[in-house]
Amino acid sequence: MKGTLAIGKAWILHRGGETGQPSERTLDEAFEYETSRLSAFIQDSPSPEVFSAHLEILEDPLLRDSIQRNVSEGLTPSESVKAAEEEISAIFNETGDEYFKSRVDDLRDVCRGLVEYLDGVPDNSFENLPKDAVVVAPELFPSDMAEMDLGTVKALVTRKGSPTSHVAIIARGRGIPFVSGIDIDGINTGDLLLVDTGKAEVKVNPSEIEERAFRSRMAEDKGIPEGMIQAIRKHGVKILGNAGSVKDVEEAIRSGAEGIGLFRTEFLFLCRDKLPSEEEQFSIYKETVEACQGRPLTIRTMDIGGDKPAPGLDLPKEDNPFLGMRGIRLSLNMPEIFKEQIRAILRASAHGKIRMMLPMVTRLEELVQTKALVEECKASLRSSGSLFDSDMEIGVMIETPAAALISDRLAAEAGFFSIGTNDLTQYVMAADRGNSSVSNLCNPLDKAVIRTVKMVVDAAKKEKIPVGVCGEAASDPEVANVLCDLGIDSLSLGSPTLIKELSLH
Ligand code: PEP
Ligand code: MG
Repeated sequence: MKGTLAIGKAWILHRGGETGQPSERTLDEAFEYETSRLSAFIQDSPSPEVFSAHLEILEDPLLRDSIQRNVSEGLTPSESVKAAEEEISAIFNETGDEYFKSRVDDLRDVCRGLVEYLDGVPDNSFENLPKDAVVVAPELFPSDMAEMDLGTVKALVTRKGSPTSHVAIIARGRGIPFVSGIDIDGINTGDLLLVDTGKAEVKVNPSEIEERAFRSRMAEDKGIPEGMIQAIRKHGVKILGNAGSVKDVEEAIRSGAEGIGLFRTEFLFLCRDKLPSEEEQFSIYKETVEACQGRPLTIRTMDIGGDKPAPGLDLPKEDNPFLGMRGIRLSLNMPEIFKEQIRAILRASAHGKIRMMLPMVTRLEELVQTKALVEECKASLRSSGSLFDSDMEIGVMIETPAAALISDRLAAEAGFFSIGTNDLTQYVMAADRGNSSVSNLCNPLDKAVIRTVKMVVDAAKKEKIPVGVCGEAASDPEVANVLCDLGIDSLSLGSPTLIKELSLH
């Protein structure tokens, strides 16, 4: 479905009249003002019939008489309009007739126009609406739709309303995502909103990961921009898949991925009290590489620690887990457990093309030590008569500034690089990838990150090793274009739909 997702900064509509200041304006003037306002909408709106219905209500003596009666009972003109609105709404609703019930919204819109004029309080009217905003309001009326520049509005979010209201119909006609029934109290002007009309959900100030994932869903929703397809074609960039289970692998391959650029093995270690045995790991890696049907499978060794705890390891709690014992540091700190994983990977490499990849590398020694452990494992497998690919490549994830800064040295020792933009961005920008209040800093297009990526790509080219990107940024068309131009060889994507669309071209 097109146009069901939107992302943008919130702009809260504050209506005139809400401050309740009195004014000298008369009822006759208010009716005159509202008549000319609605007549203008009838002329300019693509839905003139909506406003003809409004005008009918304004001209109906029922409304005028009810307001006059309230005035004669001592209410102010503005209070009289509000009381008349209540009274007539009740009459319409009591009829039980769908036609009259549907006129209640029209009546309320008309009365709102009268009250705003009578109170004479300027609202933060749509004249001040910034471009690309998500308009947030307790409720929106058809006349609001006529007043705002719908060409630049990203989405509409309201507390009250329904998918079948006039506002919803106009929004749909203009391809503007609209969600009602949202608790808007916690939203402030300027907050970043992810609007999902399909799920009728609004996420306020998402984390960087949530935003990236949402943007990639948007890309699927809208179709892939031609620019991204051209950049991929021009540079001959391979489309690979990211996977966290055998099922993911099957789906990515079925969608046309040329291989798996990132197979996360954490799922074997997380949420369970007992560590997986070498045998269990071997059977899963074997099943996984067979699911690749001859295409390369990049197995990332366990990236535990940080936000990925493993109960089976009973690790001490850390104050700063993202700067602590995670990824390759942890693996090298428990070599016996690490060697079981390495042996399982090596044994699976006898059943298909496997590359082994190391997460969270910061120092050359980590690669050198791992290679020594791999040699040790090969020797023990040889002596036990197990088969394995003796040329299995060992690559490095570049996801720390340290790894990027020594990428020339790492490139001389590694079989390939894969840039993990999720962590690389967080560490380069010193901004927690899960903290929404710094999500504006977690931007892979920031000059600092792009320079870092360029340094890594140049180092890889110099040593003639392949360099891909497996972070979420690879799925963002805007970032992917830049990455392709920088010279990366592959994009590894989490979404099978995106893989399919890009592989078809
Ligand atoms: C990354 O950091 O970009 C990455 C792919 O690894 P993860 O998201 O699993 O940390
Ligand atoms: Mg990472």
